[in-house]
Amino acid sequence: MVTYAAFEARAQALAARVAAACAAAGRDPASVRILPVTKTHPAEAATFAARFGYAAVGENRVQEAAAKRALAPASLRWELIGHLQSNKAKLAVATFDLIQSVDSPELAIRLGRFAAEQGKALPVLLQVNSGDDPAKFGCDLADTPRLLDAALASPALRVEGLMAVAPLSDDPAVARRAFDRLRECRDTLAARSGLALPELSMGMSGDLEPAVAAGSTCLRVGSALFGARPVPA
Ligand SMILES: *Cc1c(COP(=O)(O)O)cnc(C)c1O
Repeated sequence: MVTYAAFEARAQALAARVAAACAAAGRDPASVRILPVTKTHPAEAATFAARFGYAAVGENRVQEAAAKRALAPASLRWELIGHLQSNKAKLAVATFDLIQSVDSPELAIRLGRFAAEQGKALPVLLQVNSGDDPAKFGCDLADTPRLLDAALASPALRVEGLMAVAPLSDDPAVARRAFDRLRECRDTLAARSGLALPELSMGMSGDLEPAVAAGSTCLRVGSALFGARPVPA
């Protein structure tokens, strides 16, 4: 884990990098938020993020996030970005302010049921495997209309947009293609449903420039802020 001073320097460098990507793409930097990803790091990472002024952090495991949330500033919001097993859906609804990784109609229905039980209006993103990567979670592009319909049928869910993880590749064009396909998928679903679906969560430390160029509204950034993770996750 980095010190706060090192984290602050990294956060400032990241802001400059995002600003440059926005300038290159002709976009307003205010239209892209950074979601610090604190997975595998101690709860202190979330405290650093809050102290710097970030409003939310991303985690990919439910129990890990629940434990850290208890130790972090109460004002910080928590977002789930990792695959959710159905047996953890209830705790996920209790723990997170937004779930970015809704990837099946069954999961959407389950989350909607627990959100209703817990009296919550839960914002969600639909995770799409827009890079057709067998190693990645996410709904297939062809199945996204059915996933959206299931999520919209749950009155306790608020569908705000889509999320994707690009395939790992040394070729930046591979990520760019996955991001363009996510935006096109959003445009198709928006036209079909009449909803704006404004959020496009795409781009991480290694591929944020193509993500900004393709229209990302949320960059999920771990290693560029906190350094290498102690264990792979
Ligand atoms: C870990 C993770 C990130 C952050 O990755 P970095 O390369 O460390 O920026 C973003 N999105 C998801 C879904 C992740 O699991």
